[in-house]
Formats: sequence, C-alpha cells, structure tokens
Amino acid sequence: MKLSEIAVKQIKGVGPKKAEDLEQLGIHTAQQLLEYFPFRYEDYRIRDLAQVADGEKATVEGKIYGTPSLQMYGRKKSRLTCKVVVNDVMVTAVWFNRHFIKDQLQPGETIVLNGKWDSRRQQLTVSEHEFPAKASRQGPRSGTLQPVYSVAGPISQAWMRKTIKTALERYGSYVEELLPEELLGKYKLISRKEAVAHVHRPDNFEDGRQARRRLVYEELFLFQLKMQAYRALNRGRTDGVAHALDMEAIRSFIRSLPFELTDSQKKVLAEIFRDLKEPYSMNRLLQGDVGSGKTAVAAVSLFAVVKAGKQGALMVPTEILAEQHKRSLEEMFAPFGIQVALLTGSLREKARRETLASLQMGLTDLVIGTHALIQEDVVFRSLGLVITDEQHRFGVNQRGILRSKGLNPDVLTMTATPIPRTLAITAFGDMDVSTLTELPKGRKPIKTYSVSHDMLPRVLGFIRKEVSQGRQAYVICPLIEESDKLDVQNAIDVHTQLAQHFPDLKIGLLHGRLTNMEKDEVMQQFKDNDVQVLVSTTVVEVGVDVPNATLMIVYDAVRFGLSQLHQLRGRVGRGAHQSYCILLADPKNEVSKERMKVMTETNDGFEIARRDLELRGPGDFFGTKQSGLPDFKLADLMSDYEILEKAREDAAALVQEPDFWTAARYLPLRDYLQQQQVFRAGRFD
Ligand code: ADP
Ligand code: MG
Repeated sequence: MKLSEIAVKQIKGVGPKKAEDLEQLGIHTAQQLLEYFPFRYEDYRIRDLAQVADGEKATVEGKIYGTPSLQMYGRKKSRLTCKVVVNDVMVTAVWFNRHFIKDQLQPGETIVLNGKWDSRRQQLTVSEHEFPAKASRQGPRSGTLQPVYSVAGPISQAWMRKTIKTALERYGSYVEELLPEELLGKYKLISRKEAVAHVHRPDNFEDGRQARRRLVYEELFLFQLKMQAYRALNRGRTDGVAHALDMEAIRSFIRSLPFELTDSQKKVLAEIFRDLKEPYSMNRLLQGDVGSGKTAVAAVSLFAVVKAGKQGALMVPTEILAEQHKRSLEEMFAPFGIQVALLTGSLREKARRETLASLQMGLTDLVIGTHALIQEDVVFRSLGLVITDEQHRFGVNQRGILRSKGLNPDVLTMTATPIPRTLAITAFGDMDVSTLTELPKGRKPIKTYSVSHDMLPRVLGFIRKEVSQGRQAYVICPLIEESDKLDVQNAIDVHTQLAQHFPDLKIGLLHGRLTNMEKDEVMQQFKDNDVQVLVSTTVVEVGVDVPNATLMIVYDAVRFGLSQLHQLRGRVGRGAHQSYCILLADPKNEVSKERMKVMTETNDGFEIARRDLELRGPGDFFGTKQSGLPDFKLADLMSDYEILEKAREDAAALVQEPDFWTAARYLPLRDYLQQQQVFRAGRFD
C-alpha cells in the first residue's frame, strides 16, 4: 500500500467537506496527514500537587468535596467553583463560563483537572477536566501526552487528534523507511514507522523526544542531500570552462599589488584556482568580514581568467561602487594591458553601444556594472568568470539567466555580510564556501561608543578635533522606514546644520536622489579630502573605500540593523590611523539596548552575525527580501544546528559514493531526489 496514493477522504471519519478543509492545510493524502506533525504536546499525565510550581499548568487528580457554587455575570459569563481534595490538600477548582457542567460535579466523584495552579490562593483555574469513570470512547486523555497541531478554521484540535489517531491505527504500519541502515545505526535512530507513531502518540516525553530527533535528522538530511546532489551533479558536468591559468603571470600581478596578500586571501585564491582549472563551473560563495580584502581576491581571480583568454564581469549593487571598482581595478590592470569597461544604467547611448560592441567582439576583457549587467542585452565573446558583490540580494537567479543565454561561466558570489555558518550552509547549501578569516595586518580595531543624542555637541567637538588632524568623517542620517523621500530630507537637514556649525569646513551631501554624476563628484571630492565631512543616507553602506576617513557617526542608530551598522562602521578603520564609530542612540527597549551593546563590544562581523541571529531568529536574519531559507516542519535552525552539521557531512559523503547512484538500498533516497526534480536541472536553472 502506498500512503501517497491514499486520498484523505478514504480515511474513516473524513467526509467530502472535511477532506476539503484538510486540503486547505495542504493535506491531500494519508501520507501528508501522517506527516502533519504536532508542534508541541499537552501534558495530561497526573502529577503530585506538591511538585507543581506556582503559575504552572499541570494535570492533577482529586475527589470532589461538597457542592459547587455558581455566579453568573450577564447571560454568558460565569464563574463556577468547587472544592476538590487533591493529594490531601483542599483546593478550589475554578471554571469560567462553563456553568452547564455544574450538575456533573457530584460530591465524592473522582475528577482529573488540567489547569493553572495558583499556590497562594490554593486555586486551580481549570481549562479541561475529565471523569475517569466515564472516559470518552476515544479513551481517557488523562495520563497521556496529547499532541497539539497547528489547526485553523473549521478544523478543531480535537477533530485533528481523532483523525490522525484513526489514520495511524489504520495506515501506520505502511510507513516506509527512507534512511539507510548505516545512518540509523550511526545515530541510534528509531525507524520511520515508530517515529511517526510516537511523534503523534508518545507514551512519554522520552518517546516523543526520540521520535522528534529521528524526524529532525531526516528532514535536515533530506534537505542537505538535495543540496549535495545539486553540487555533485554540477561538479560532474564538463560544460564549464577549464581555464588554462598562467601561474607565472598571476604571481607577477600579485607582486604588483601595493600590499602582500594575507594568508587567508592566499588560501581562498588557491580554492578558487582549483575550481577555475576544472571543467565544471564554479559555484562558490566568498564570505569575509568588512575590510577583509574581498576586492583583492576578486581582482586576482579576474586577472587569472583574463590572462587565460576569457572575459570577466564584476557585478556590484550600486553605481557608486561600480565607479569606484572601475577606478581601482583600472589602476591595477593598466600595467598589464587589460581593458576595463563600465556598464551602468546611466551610460550614454553611444558609449553604451560602443561598450557592448567591444564586449561582443572580445576587445574588452573586463566589465564592471550593476546587476543589470547580465540581465540586459549584453553579449560576451567568451565570458569566463562572473563575480557578484552581493548586498542582501540572495536568491537572485543569476546562474539561470546566464545559462539561458547559453553561458556557463564560473561564478563567485561575495557577501558583504558575514553569515553564521548554520544559515550559510542552509541558504547556500549547494555552493562551496570560502571564508576570509583574518583582516590585513596592522589594522587598529575601531573604537565604538554608543551615546545619547544629548551628547551631540561633544560629538561635533570630536569631528572638529579629527578634522583638524587632517582626518575625515562620515555622518549617516536617520533612517525612516519605507520613505526614501524623508530620508533625503533628513540628510538635507543634517547637512544644513553641520554646514552652519562648521562654516570653515566643506561638508558634502550624498543621497539617492542625486544624479549619478553628482554622486560621483561628491565621492571624488571626499576621496581627495576636498570634502571633510560627508553627510549621507545609507547609500555609502557597502564597499566605499576612503582610508583617510576615521570617524563614523550614525544618527538614530537604533533604527539600523546590526549587520547594517557593522557595514557602516566598516567604512572607517581602513587606514593607519585610529578610527572611531559613534552611535547616537536612545534605545527604548531591551533588544535595541542589546544591539548597541553588541556593537560596542565587538568588531568581529561573524560574532555580530551570531548575536544578530540570536536576537532576530533565522527567518528575519536576511531581512525582508527573499531569504533562500527553506521552511522546515520540525527542525529549528537555532537549536538543531548540531544535527544540521552532521546531516550535511553525511549527505556530502553519501553522494560521493558511487554506490549511492546505483545500489538498491538507496532507491528511496533517489526517488526522493527524483520527486524534488533534482535531476532535471540545476537548482537555479
Ligand atoms: P572588503 O572585503 O570589505 O570588500 P576591501 O576589498 O574593500 O574589503 O579591502 C579593504 C581595504 O584593505 C582596501 O583598502 C584594500 O586595499 C586593503 N587590503 C586588501 N587586502 C590587503 C592586504 N592583504 N594587506 C593590506 N591591505 C589590504
Ligand atoms: Mg567589498
């Protein structure tokens, strides 16, 4: 019997109407019903009242003493009380709005009560009760753990319990095993059949725990198996470019850089080169804290590919960054005779056409632009490597767009925000991950202070002091959610105030409403120290590099997320001078206070990401944009991360085994991958 082929209406007690209601919950088959797991249990096991703490919810058993008394308030509201002797203690049981049960309460009868205990009043507010002597046909609740399902609309908790119980009794024995013996043995997991039965109907918490442990492992393992299968299939392809890297030339390019690469940069480059040389297409994520030197890694990788006769593209989130990268890459690449072109939305039509033509003919080796770069009508002669400097734009289907153009370049995605490992291996599970684990030597840690807005005069004094020593400052303006227009107004206001306060200084203004040329001009002036203080909205958030700036001031810092504050702070501390970050904040709640505390306590982006994840939870971590995180039924990324790690290792090892793709015992897993359409195409095709 195949559970996936049994429609819910075949289950006893499920009529056409209820079948429809179940379908509303996404439950169409007996299998889906049995896999509709409870999210917690109600504990109806009888406890000794002496063990129950004040305010706790518990189930106790007692004998009714005396007669109940009823007070009515209006027509429906009521309070019914009755004395009950529980474990030799006289307790007042209280029911609200259940006047109709008054006559059932007979002195001397045994009653089981579930409710909240108030030890001071010796009173139990009853939410459910049961008379063991006349337990319902479903069997007594008391003494058991009852599953609590997420139900909605016309489906009641009681109906769901009853229906799943019926389905289990009838079909439970047909639940098939999915996981191979070796994994069950390795973690001493119970069988799928047992797990499904116990997760709905545990005899005790330990049973429920074992069932959950097995099912969580399964859920995470299947997810990771899917990701690892994509990865393995991708690596098995030979339609990518096997670049013929000229290591001699690459070494001389690296020597020409104004600094020595960190060990971490070298290690990451070795990982990238290994991918570039192979005929599959690279699908790699490069993580590194702000200022860890991701751009240098990108530059060397692009150089390597261009030297091997292919074209490279660098995509960045903003035009300011595109301009900045173009300038710095041009400087690095010019001595090697490599052309760098810029392709952004604001390019004039003629210049644009020329650039497109020269890319198509292969006269341009390297192009830098915004994300539109690959989406528009751009034709490459031989695109070998695409690097994206992502902001938070995860899940963008770049690979799919490239493939649809008949291109299969190597792809390196750089993230500006450190991502805690659990989320990285979940959201980017099919990618290889490289991490820059150290900052270039000689960086002085940025000193961060969180001060109230009343301190503004002193903060202005601090700006004066830094500027008089030849340094520069950023002032980031308050963020108004959802309103670019108000943000701009804020920036204009702050700019006016600062210009009045510092009549002798040049104060720049940067916001999203300026034309690209205007933005560019202000950035250039700031770079040249013609502007000493730059007032800006968050357009400077990512990637801007002005090493002489040593002071970052953020107005109304509580309005910014932790990773955003860390990004903003990363704009300073890029040169030899001591840098400072001042957060103007008057936090009103604990979470805001905690965020400011985290910022002042650490400069480590990975630590900040970890604390951010704790404060916000996985769903929120990536912000409102598409997160790329799957919705797990049982697994919780925060508490089950150890299982996640194991599941990933196991899945990665399994897909490496030639056996996996042929042996009969792995058939259920291969069927699963088939259902998930893993074989049809890559994840992003
Ligand atoms: P991010 O990882 O935030 O993109 P960048 O690539 O902008 O960091 O690098 C930050 C700064 O560090 C730049 O000024 C860059 O020139 C410099 N830098 C990068 N690598 C090194 C290195 N190995 N040694 C010294 N400075 C470096
Ligand atoms: Mg960068």
